[in-house]
Amino acid sequence: MKANRPPERPPGFIYRRETRLVGKPDLELQADQIPLPRLAKRYGTPLYVYSASTIRERYRQFDQAFRGCEHTICYSIKANSNLSILKMLARLGAGFDIVSGGELQRVMAAAPRTAAKVVFSGVGKLADEIDQALRAGILLFNVESSSELGLLAARAAHHHKTAQFAIRVNPQVAAKTHPYISTGLHEHKFGVPWRDASELYLRGATERYLKPAGISVHIGSQITELDPFRETMQRAASLVRSLRADGLDIRYVDAGGGLGISYKNTSDPSFSSRTKQYARALREPLDGLGVHLLLEPGRAIIGPAGVLLTRVLYRKQNNGKQFVVVDAAMNDLLRPSLYHAYHEIVPVLLRKGAVTTEKVDVVGPVCETGDFFARDRVIRSPQAGDLLAILDTGAYGMSLASNYNTRPRPAEVLVDGARSRLVRKRESIAGLLAPERL
Ligand SMILES: *Cc1c(COP(=O)(O)O)cnc(C)c1O
Repeated sequence: MKANRPPERPPGFIYRRETRLVGKPDLELQADQIPLPRLAKRYGTPLYVYSASTIRERYRQFDQAFRGCEHTICYSIKANSNLSILKMLARLGAGFDIVSGGELQRVMAAAPRTAAKVVFSGVGKLADEIDQALRAGILLFNVESSSELGLLAARAAHHHKTAQFAIRVNPQVAAKTHPYISTGLHEHKFGVPWRDASELYLRGATERYLKPAGISVHIGSQITELDPFRETMQRAASLVRSLRADGLDIRYVDAGGGLGISYKNTSDPSFSSRTKQYARALREPLDGLGVHLLLEPGRAIIGPAGVLLTRVLYRKQNNGKQFVVVDAAMNDLLRPSLYHAYHEIVPVLLRKGAVTTEKVDVVGPVCETGDFFARDRVIRSPQAGDLLAILDTGAYGMSLASNYNTRPRPAEVLVDGARSRLVRKRESIAGLLAPERL
C-alpha cells in the first residue's frame, strides 16, 4: 500500500491518520494539522487551501540560499495576490514585484511599510499607475521602452520626486518552458533589445528626476534548467561593467523570477538544494561586482503551498471513456486548459483495502471541451461524493481565476498549524450580478 501512496507535499500536505477517530484506519490528507475533509465541510468546495508552514519554509530556504550576498526577495504578486499571504510574506522580510497599480494597492493595504521594497515591472504602465508608485516611494521602476522612460521622466518631474530606474533588458536567452510564459527573446514583447539599452540609460541619466540604478531581466516562468539563468546573468554582468565605465552608478541587478517547480510525482526533491544551485548560477557571474541582487520568485515560493480541493459530482462513461466530473472548473484553475499544465490529482481519503485504479479524464462543469484537469490519467477510482485535491495550485491558480459561466470564484483558506482562517470568502451570484445594469 505504501509503495503506491499518492504524492504528498511536505511539510504542508501529508497523509495522516486522524487521531481523534480511533478505530477508523483510513488516511486523510491534511493541510498542516487540519484534515481536508473538515475544511471542505466548513468552507465548502471548490476551495483553495494554503499551508502557512510551507510558505514559511520555502521563503526561508530561498532566502538562505542567497546568504552572504546582499539581496532582497521581491515576491511576485501576480502568482498569488491574496492580502493575507502578502502580509505573511512581508513579515518574513519580503518586498514585492508588482505589474499594476492594483497590485501596488494590495501592498499598501497589506503591508504599506514595504513600499520601499517594491519593484514595478510591466510593458504597459499607465501614467496614473506611475504616479501612485512615485507617491508610494517604491524602490525601482523596471522600464520596458523608450516611450515609458519619457513618461516616467515627465511624471517624476511633475511630482518633484526622483525615480530610480532599471531598464528591463531582453537578454536573448531561450528558456525551455511553455511559449506563453517564455519572455527572454527579441520576438517577445518584453524588455529592450540588448544593443539599445546603453543609449537609453545614458538618456535617462540626463533627466533631472531620473536615476539609473539597476538592470533588470526576467526570462520567463517555470524554468527548470539553470543554464539560461547563468547565461542571462553573464550578460547582465557585462552590461553592469560597461555602464559603470560610462560613469553610471548601477547598484541593483534584478534577476527576475522564473525558477520552476516539479509538478509531477514526488515532492520537490529538495527545494533547499535546488535553490542553492539556482543561487550559485545567479551569483557566480556577478562575482566581484558588489551589486545588490533583487529576486522576484512567485511560483517557487507559493506553488506547492496550495491545493485546490474539489468534490466529485458524477461519474460518466462515453464510448468506454471514463469521466470524473468535479465541482471545480477551468474558471477556478486555468493552467491545464491554458498551458496544458500537469497537476497531480490525489484522493483526500485513502481507504484501507484493495486499491483499484483506472484511466480517467477529470473534467469540470464548464461548457468547453478545454475544461479539464487531467486527461487519460490513471488514478485511484473516485466515486461521486469523494474529495480530490489538485496539488501545486498555490501559484497562478486563484490569481488566474475568472467568472466564466457565471461561476463565483472559490473561497481561499490559510491553514497555520492547527488553525484555519478564511482569507477570501466565496463569491456569490448576487455579487457577480451587482455591477450590471438592466
Ligand atoms: C511573472 C513574473 C515573475 C514571477 O515569475 P515566477 O515564475 O512565478 O517566479 C517575476 N518577475 C516578473 C517581471 C514577472 O512578470
